[in-house]
Amino acid sequence: MNETPMRARAVVDLAALRANVRVLRALAPKAQLMAVVKANAYGHGMVPCARAARRAGAAWIGTALPTEALALRAAGDRGRLLCWLWTPGGPFREAVEADVDISVSGLWALEEVLAAVRAAGRPARVQLKIDTGLGRNGCTPGDWEKLVAAAREAELGGALRVTGVWSHFACADEPGHPSIRAQLDVFRDAVAYAEAQGLAPEVRHIANSPATLTLPETHFDLVRTGVAVYGISPSPEIGTPADFGLRPVMTLTASLASVKRVPGGLGVSYGHQYTTPGETTLALVPLGYADGIPRAASGTGEVLIGGRRRRIAGRVAMDQFVVDLGDDTAEPGDEAVLFGPGDRGEPTAEDWGRATGTIGYEVITRITRRVPRVYVGVEDENDENAAPAEPGAAG
Ligand SMILES: *Cc1c(COP(=O)(O)O)cnc(C)c1O
Repeated sequence: MNETPMRARAVVDLAALRANVRVLRALAPKAQLMAVVKANAYGHGMVPCARAARRAGAAWIGTALPTEALALRAAGDRGRLLCWLWTPGGPFREAVEADVDISVSGLWALEEVLAAVRAAGRPARVQLKIDTGLGRNGCTPGDWEKLVAAAREAELGGALRVTGVWSHFACADEPGHPSIRAQLDVFRDAVAYAEAQGLAPEVRHIANSPATLTLPETHFDLVRTGVAVYGISPSPEIGTPADFGLRPVMTLTASLASVKRVPGGLGVSYGHQYTTPGETTLALVPLGYADGIPRAASGTGEVLIGGRRRRIAGRVAMDQFVVDLGDDTAEPGDEAVLFGPGDRGEPTAEDWGRATGTIGYEVITRITRRVPRVYVGVEDENDENAAPAEPGAAG
């Protein structure tokens, strides 16, 4: 990768992504798998990741935003696709026309879906979401009867089909947390009630990545895996990716922009938060918070340069940060590895999360579009739905 003439690159290993999807499918053998590709596939690039996940057998793709779901359709994705974060105005009609499964958490959304059905002249697919205890989106148990009744009436009238009943966990990344069992009880009751009212959802689902990895009794008909698809662990309590046979998909690297010998006592970067302890060599890494490098990594984040881990010296700026190499030698253009699978001794996204007071999810997702994504492992002869190769980089 070193010969690629680029300031920085996020190398996205689609072979690793496909392998992760297969690992997750094997962990939930009776369920279908939904690959969650919201937020530009957690920073990895939505369209190539969705395509790779489909090739590895993901029957479903999940997005938060309607714009994400419609962009996937525009890119040619034709499989089952659930979208869950709606606001008034949708656009529901476009979603109905694009054959998106629409999550509905309340009567206002059901009414907008029914208006969209009339405008589109075709029925909708709807999945009813119950808030079983996350306290975020979803219908409260108290309003569930009304929502189920309205959806059933619309279904009997031919306007829609209820394809799913679903929910989301609050604490699945904390094994043994009492809320897990409590949410499962509410979920089972909500499903039983909906079915007793005549609904026949194809898929009942509540499991995210941590539940998929550690709680088989939560798998039901479908598991919605996000972070694990990208080879990142949901939490240290769950384990490392390697514990499950998962492999991090993104490797973030940069080419050193400057290497210089400086005297001791030199203040480094804004605010002079770091002072060279003696004569030393400073390397300049051309990535900063405009690229998604947390400013909180100032003085704490680590990168691999020349086979050694080095800590960030002083503040992370908008475009760049400095690393003190001591008496090691390096050249402009040498590679700095910020995070990756860890094979070469580089930090992982989870390491960056620990260093900056956040989680691996945020570390990968916040890498901005300023950093070109370079796709490797695009094609694989063993793929179940192999398609022509599409090598190369995309912005
Ligand atoms: C993001 C999200 C997921 C995926 O969560 P992971 O922990 O990344 O697996 C699943 N379901 C919903 C509703 C989500 O918002």
